[in-house]
Amino acid sequence: MAKISVLSDQVANQIAAGEVIERPASIVKELVENSLDAGATAIEIEFKKGGTSFIRIEDNGCGMSEEDASLSLQRHATSKIRDADDLNELTSMGFRGEALPSIASVSKFQLQTREVESDSGTDILINGGKVVHHRECGMPPGTRMTISQLFNTVPARRKFLKTVSTESAHIVHYARLYALAHPEVAFTLIDDGRTLFRTPACVRLRDRVMEIFGKSVAGKLIEVEAKEMGMRLSGLIGAPGHSRSSRHEMLIFVNNRPVENRTLGYALIESYYGHIPKGRYPVAFLFLDLSPKDVDVNVHPAKREIRFRNESSVRGFAVRAILEALQKSVEIVAAPVVRSAPVGKAQTFDIGDSSEETVESKRTPILSSPKIDTPVKKAKVSEKTKTASETKSVSIVTEEVVFENEAGPIEEVAQVVERDWQFIGWAQDDYALFDTDSGVVVLDFKAAQKRVWYARLLASYENRTVESQKLLLPLPVEFDPVSSAMLTDNAELFEAYGLEVAPFGRNFFRIEAVPSWLPEKEAEAYLGEWVDLLRNGSISDKKAGATQELLAKHAVHNIVRGASTPGETELDELLDSLFQTNNPLADPDGRPTFIEIAKSELNRRFHKK
Ligand code: ADP
Ligand code: MG
Repeated sequence: MAKISVLSDQVANQIAAGEVIERPASIVKELVENSLDAGATAIEIEFKKGGTSFIRIEDNGCGMSEEDASLSLQRHATSKIRDADDLNELTSMGFRGEALPSIASVSKFQLQTREVESDSGTDILINGGKVVHHRECGMPPGTRMTISQLFNTVPARRKFLKTVSTESAHIVHYARLYALAHPEVAFTLIDDGRTLFRTPACVRLRDRVMEIFGKSVAGKLIEVEAKEMGMRLSGLIGAPGHSRSSRHEMLIFVNNRPVENRTLGYALIESYYGHIPKGRYPVAFLFLDLSPKDVDVNVHPAKREIRFRNESSVRGFAVRAILEALQKSVEIVAAPVVRSAPVGKAQTFDIGDSSEETVESKRTPILSSPKIDTPVKKAKVSEKTKTASETKSVSIVTEEVVFENEAGPIEEVAQVVERDWQFIGWAQDDYALFDTDSGVVVLDFKAAQKRVWYARLLASYENRTVESQKLLLPLPVEFDPVSSAMLTDNAELFEAYGLEVAPFGRNFFRIEAVPSWLPEKEAEAYLGEWVDLLRNGSISDKKAGATQELLAKHAVHNIVRGASTPGETELDELLDSLFQTNNPLADPDGRPTFIEIAKSELNRRFHKK
């Protein structure tokens, strides 16, 4: 057995360097973080040959005293935390005190630093972990670190480096990340003497994006800004339709630290569902701020990955915020076409996704195309009809029933229905008054609408021609585990009735389509009601008849609830439709749709003969 011995600091540092310093870009990352922690307002990054031959990071931050400069090169020397408890409330980028000694152990490393208070700075040169010189130097306040001959002491590591252009790309990526996270800091990036960007301190993120990514990217971004339960999500995301082939421009920051986080990345991609083609990625510069207590940053050596204490609440919040921003931008661009079909008029919308067309066309709207299977009654208006406003006496003298089939229309003359009601006016909001040959009619227009809709919905359920409306933006909803399980098991049942719901993570669902009469904003509440009906056993795929009636009844209450008083023409159409149903006298709950007061009754009440 070999004898155990404690590793020398030099070896320990090199091992740590293996974790912290993967590649030249890691050095840039660590040093820029140090500069930010030091309160710099200007940071300059220069590199050559992908950083393998030269890296210089210079800042105007607080600098270090001579004593601190020496200390900073020792392992686990940090000014940022004192004990393990501080880890729970990290506000600084660094905290391990590993970066400087690690870098110094695998390169030729020069640290020059000066505090404002002192007249001169400190200059320490280390090569492969050994101090070459330590002296006073003249310099402006701040810190300059210069790294050359990277991995000179560990030749094996050099072999793992990729091409110069790949390593350069990684450095540029990090420089952009930090420049985005800190618009208030002026950044300069120089590659082999060529200035890649030089941005002054900016107030707005959009200005910074423009400086770094150019006008064309900045112009296609929409703003995100939302707060919920101590969390804030802000930043810029690509407008719908704006996508990339890779996720390189999906930049996510948590408490201003660039991170790779599945929860947020997934929330982002999912939110763009239907907005960008499958397999493409959104552009995003997203900033999530939450209490440091709710984030664990100490799970990855390079601090790139983080974990949230409550993943699902972060995810729910992010999805809501992103969808809301997308929704807003869509409303601005396409305000007239986003709404659901209004009651009584069926509309189909082109949502710009041709893959949905087949689905839409299979679901023939029953209202706009009643000719399929159902007879169309064309009411012929009798000669008695005067101009609209004088009298509203409309008699249906004949009705032609038109069946359309492959052989062409077959016309038949159906029985004659007479209706001779003259509209007088409205009373008590909901009641339409009519004068008739034999008395007075009082119609409850909402009850009439319920009957008409009830018949339509039942017909559509029976014919499997339920008209549903694809949501422009799928709506995320969350349920408790029991409801979720029921919903998952009954997704097909719901779909048959026009409510399409897809699972979307544990206990999360996405409402993708709703019955077309349902306003989008009521979709979530409506789904909730259906789930309740499901849970108490009122609806199921085993008792189709009862389920159809119950859902139709349920629907008509919702449809009619917010209905506004119809105009005279609509009222006429309503009466036509009402009398085509199998029970025009009552609404689906059995309440009367209208009452007639006979002339004789009026005479009796007024004590006339
Ligand atoms: P950490 O950042 O985890 O504390 P580092 O090894 O990166 O560890 O840095 C060690 C210490 O050196 C820091 O805690 C800080 O006090 C000091 N330091 C590093 N870079 C700078 C800088 N650019 N300006 C001022 N102080 C710095
Ligand atoms: Mg550090």
